[in-house]
Amino acid sequence: MSRTLLRGARVITMVPHRPDAEHADILIDGDSIAGIGEGLDATGAEIVDVTGRVIMPGLVNAHLHTWQTALRGVGTDWTLADYLGRMHGAVARHYRPEDMRVGTLAGALSQLDRGTTTVGDWCHNTPTPDHTDAAIDGLAASGIRGVFLHGTPYSAADAGHPVDEIDRLLDGPIAAHPLLTLGMAVRGPQLSTPDAAVADFRAAAERGLVVSMHQSGGEPGPGWDAVRDAGLLSTTTNVVHGAGLTDDWFKTLVDSGASFTSTPENELGQGHCFPITGHVLRLGAAPSLGTDTDAVTPADVLSAARIALAHQRGHDHDHHRRSTGSFSLTATITAKQALAWATVEGARALGLADRVGRLDAGMQADLIVIDAPAPNPVATALHATAGDIEAVMIAGRWRKRDHTLLDIDLDTVRTQLHESAGHLLPHVTG
Ligand SMILES: [Zn+2]
Repeated sequence: MSRTLLRGARVITMVPHRPDAEHADILIDGDSIAGIGEGLDATGAEIVDVTGRVIMPGLVNAHLHTWQTALRGVGTDWTLADYLGRMHGAVARHYRPEDMRVGTLAGALSQLDRGTTTVGDWCHNTPTPDHTDAAIDGLAASGIRGVFLHGTPYSAADAGHPVDEIDRLLDGPIAAHPLLTLGMAVRGPQLSTPDAAVADFRAAAERGLVVSMHQSGGEPGPGWDAVRDAGLLSTTTNVVHGAGLTDDWFKTLVDSGASFTSTPENELGQGHCFPITGHVLRLGAAPSLGTDTDAVTPADVLSAARIALAHQRGHDHDHHRRSTGSFSLTATITAKQALAWATVEGARALGLADRVGRLDAGMQADLIVIDAPAPNPVATALHATAGDIEAVMIAGRWRKRDHTLLDIDLDTVRTQLHESAGHLLPHVTG
């Protein structure tokens, strides 16, 4: 197994008992981290000088529909109703398997370029197994670590998730790729009958899979009551958006260990309602982050972190001023917390907290190297743009180095993506 020593950087480990940032070397052995500190035994290791850089865990984009990447930006002025009508009601049904593949591949590469090492790929345009397998093939070809969240096109509220397809994926396409795991992207209690919601949650629990669902812009319905009463809320439950939940439901979900994924830019812009950041922070929990759809928002997890942070700070400052008549003297949330949402919390939401999200001995070697001035490394990390992400490593293997993606023929991907967009764009109607 190859060994690599990253020497000279300032390291943000995201490990609770360690400093926010520290001068430390990182020893990588094969696909995992062997140690972080000074004076490590680097016998036989390749020494990589990263003096002047900041290294942090790879970002986790916990909610993204990569299959929509060929339509990047077409819906920048869409409301949620526009999105549902034009994307799911119109163009989605015109996707061919090759559109699923190249959209997923390009979306995952875009994430890699921006420092994302793990993506929760919420794939709900799977009318045939060929579409599903093509999407998985694209995800695997990118080299990213992914949780393929298998969803379905929108259908009747009493239609249960096709569990035979879940089992097929577990046995075949997913098992073939060591960086991919499977989850279930279900319609969820808001949009399902109680019986269907319970059946879907139970199927995920029986297989030990994350079960993820949208919940947005409406009151929790009887499906939520049924899932709770069946004892099926747990740490593998992932609620996307969460807008419209009551305070009691936030408490019930947080107490169960469920995770929340906020996608703040399109939640604010499209009419989902406000990000739920403050709701979960008040209960001692924290959100994970996603970017949802390239068709509407730029797929940048650090932008999501900055927007969620600024939005909630704004609420908190406003509340303080209204209640006391004066400006706040302290920040209610730190930049480091926002980095946690983009790393450890994303890993937890996707069921990977024991593998990624922190830099520590025994964890997978998923990390990013940021090349930007660093008087405050936490700020350097949170404010980084794609151009600042010098290098990306996943499972001990460089996927981006010297600001260039590796092991991928980008010209071919661009050509295929362009062809796919040409096929799909005429169908973006509604
Ligand atoms: Zn979504």
